[in-house]
Amino acid sequence: MFDTLSDRLTGIFAKLKGKGRLTDADIDATAREIRLALLEADVALPVVKAFIARLKERARGAEVHGALNPAQQVIKIVHEELVGVLGGEARRLQFAKHPPTVIMLAGLQGSGKTTLAGKLARHLKGLGHQPLLVACDLQRPNAVNQLQVLGGRAGVEVYAPQPGNGVGDPVQVAKDSIEHARRAMRDIVIVDTAGRLGIDTEMMRQAADIRDAVQPDEVIFVIDAMVGQDAVATAEAFRDGVGITGVVLSKLDGDARGGAALSVREVTGSPILFASTGEKLEDFDVFHPDRMASRILGMGDMLTLIEQAESAFDADQKEKMAAKLMGGQTFTLDDFLDQLIAVRRMGPISNLLGMLPGMGQMKDQLAELDDKHFDKVTAIIRSMTPGEREEPKIINGSRRLRIANGSGVTVMDVNQLLNRFADAQKMMKQMGPMMGLPGRRKATK
Ligand code: GDP
Repeated sequence: MFDTLSDRLTGIFAKLKGKGRLTDADIDATAREIRLALLEADVALPVVKAFIARLKERARGAEVHGALNPAQQVIKIVHEELVGVLGGEARRLQFAKHPPTVIMLAGLQGSGKTTLAGKLARHLKGLGHQPLLVACDLQRPNAVNQLQVLGGRAGVEVYAPQPGNGVGDPVQVAKDSIEHARRAMRDIVIVDTAGRLGIDTEMMRQAADIRDAVQPDEVIFVIDAMVGQDAVATAEAFRDGVGITGVVLSKLDGDARGGAALSVREVTGSPILFASTGEKLEDFDVFHPDRMASRILGMGDMLTLIEQAESAFDADQKEKMAAKLMGGQTFTLDDFLDQLIAVRRMGPISNLLGMLPGMGQMKDQLAELDDKHFDKVTAIIRSMTPGEREEPKIINGSRRLRIANGSGVTVMDVNQLLNRFADAQKMMKQMGPMMGLPGRRKATK
């Protein structure tokens, strides 16, 4: 799922790497490519249009964050917009004040309703509820039996029409099931309804009749994430025909392009509550828009890293550093220490590096670079006089010995640090203007 879209987006972001700032032309080109990637993933056109408009506006706007380079800024905006398209916050099921809570499932035949009924029952039972499954799909041969098998697996009672009693009338079955739930002290009733292969007025009418009979607290529309452009028409038909309060995406485990997943929230205006990811009862989870967006971007922890970088480098510090370097001043040991402290605020370095794609395996080797090392470097710099920090060239042999003694390290450690600092200083001089050091970038209008 989403593999192609992920690959495309990764490729688009890669092109931005190394750019000091983004021009309007860069933003337009990037937006165009993202637009194409979304359309190819079968995301509905109105959703794509709105997405791209917001992306452009934000990328051009003033919300350029100094701690991030342009590629990271675009990733961050795209991520936040994806989260928005997917519904923002995760939303929980709404429970009735007076049980039983009634949850009605609606959707096309084959969308995964019956499977979902079993999954939902198992999930709710795990949370301590006493659900009742109700078989109102009397259209599809075997649907009642399928629900009974799933109910058996989930350890949940299934209410089904008795032969000769109400057979063929799903509205009556639904009505009776609520009575049964009250008597049997079930606090949640999950009503599985019949679907058709396509949108069909008879099916909609039946679903609406069941809805009127049971007055559900939630009407959950189940949509197969593998369907492409049809998703929009189907979702609209159910929204208008039955009225829906929430959506479940099924078959997210397939290798579909993902358009339905990205369109359904905006089209229905209803939140995505759960995701179904396989045929087994446990292949099911609460839907988290932010996690899904991260998965689509294929960046995983890279986004966590971006967030941490933002909070670790405070604006003042960046401005100071930028002004200094822009003014042609040298990068001193004090600046070096400030940067180290900022990096440390982001957490252990091995964790940070472990979050970068491809660096995970190197974590162990990097552990030695960790806290202890930082402590040592901090101690060494703090043992220097202000003059020495400003002008490390004056640190001769006897000063090195004094600093080593003062910070409890060897002269070799002091030498190593001074060499590393000299390298960093050289790099700052060369790269500073090109990199668009933190705080220097201006939003282009
Ligand atoms: P209904 O007609 O809406 O009740 O659909 P079903 O629940 O019978 O599901 C139709 C088919 O899709 C069945 O073969 C299910 O096993 C399968 N299915 C349902 N949900 C998922 C899912 O999340 N992933 C996969 N791979 N298959 C699913």
